Amino acid sequence: MKIGLDFDGVIADSLAAKVTAAREMFAVSIPPDLCERKLIMQHQLLTEEQYDEVNRRVFSGRGVAIEEIHQACLYIQILQAHRYNIRVVTSRSNSDRTLACALEWLRVKNQTLKVSGVGYKKSKVDACRGLDVFVDDDLEKLVPLVGTVNHLLLFSSPTNRDHEMPSGIHRVDNWWELYNYIREGGFR
Ligand SMILES: [Mg+2]
Repeated sequence: MKIGLDFDGVIADSLAAKVTAAREMFAVSIPPDLCERKLIMQHQLLTEEQYDEVNRRVFSGRGVAIEEIHQACLYIQILQAHRYNIRVVTSRSNSDRTLACALEWLRVKNQTLKVSGVGYKKSKVDACRGLDVFVDDDLEKLVPLVGTVNHLLLFSSPTNRDHEMPSGIHRVDNWWELYNYIREGGFR
């Protein structure tokens, strides 16, 4: 069984790091459910330039430490012990050096995972071919994978909580649910 995981929002809590960075850099409190570019602009919480600065600081690995999504590393290690083949498919890439920061983050956490970095706003379809399961917190990344990956899971986050689930995509709220879904073969 081959399982693919997004990095930001499934393994690493970059959203919380962005909220912290915005508070430290610009003294702005961003409600977590509004912490995405479109909504931040809509509510005029930050300018485009300020949001870019927040992202640079978070994704360059300097300044704000990114915490782990609760128990992500523990469950990854348990699944690996059960011989699931797990890899990461992220939008981070080497062109802006954000991928290197993710690799370093995983190294510090003692995670041995293969990582594919497809690039910002690029499709994950090619990188996800051959996977049985893929997990992402971004519905826009999952929808194009319907038909390519049999089992698609949306990992809940404050920014996707209200999204309607299209057919073929299943929501999991946390790693406990994700783990049980995989172990119980809850694939419909
Ligand atoms: Mg993500």
